[in-house]
Amino acid sequence: ESFDSMGLLENLLRGIYAYGFERPSAIQQRGIVPFCKGLDVIQQAQSGTGKTATFCSGILQQLDYGLVQCQALVLAPTRELAQQIEKVMRALGDFLGVKVHACVGGTSVREDQRILQAGVHTVVGTPGRVFDMLRRQSLRSDCIKMFVLDEADEMLSRGFKDQIYDIFQLLPGKIQVGVFSATMPPEALEITRKFMNKPVRILV
Ligand code: AMP
Repeated sequence: ESFDSMGLLENLLRGIYAYGFERPSAIQQRGIVPFCKGLDVIQQAQSGTGKTATFCSGILQQLDYGLVQCQALVLAPTRELAQQIEKVMRALGDFLGVKVHACVGGTSVREDQRILQAGVHTVVGTPGRVFDMLRRQSLRSDCIKMFVLDEADEMLSRGFKDQIYDIFQLLPGKIQVGVFSATMPPEALEITRKFMNKPVRILV
């Protein structure tokens, strides 16, 4: 398998290769294509398996770059992880001109508002700040069509369950959902039952 045979946009492939990836990892081989088709996917995978590039590629492939509105939202358990995902998204999407912003606690709310107001294609963030931005309508949800929970088990064990549910309530009803989690505790399964539609399950 190669990245070339996945039907990816030319400029996404350029980003992937420029980032230094030569061949897809196991999770990428199994996960990128279903995600790009718009399917709901549950991927049970540890970090270190290449999950970040899996959902970043899936999102980058499906964005409408002519529409500078947030179309994809990624939640992560920590600021550091959110900012790391932001970097990967920006690097892989470099040739596509993706506009990505990380909304995380401990940074200026005003600055977040300014950047969101100027326009982004995708937002990565921690649940608290993302919920805050949605509630203030600084982050508009009407164009969001992809929603990814990264390290879902970790977010739940950090007590973000209610905030994740609150965020779901503010998103459009029909939306693609990706759940990435090393383990599947009952609360994570509940999320997949409540919010996902015939998910594809991938275990690596
Ligand atoms: P992740 O599981 O997303 O945290 O990725 C773990 C590490 O593997 C990161 O340092 C990535 O840059 C690297 N990585 C992910 N996919 C590939 C790939 N296809 N080829 C080489 N390195 C990769």
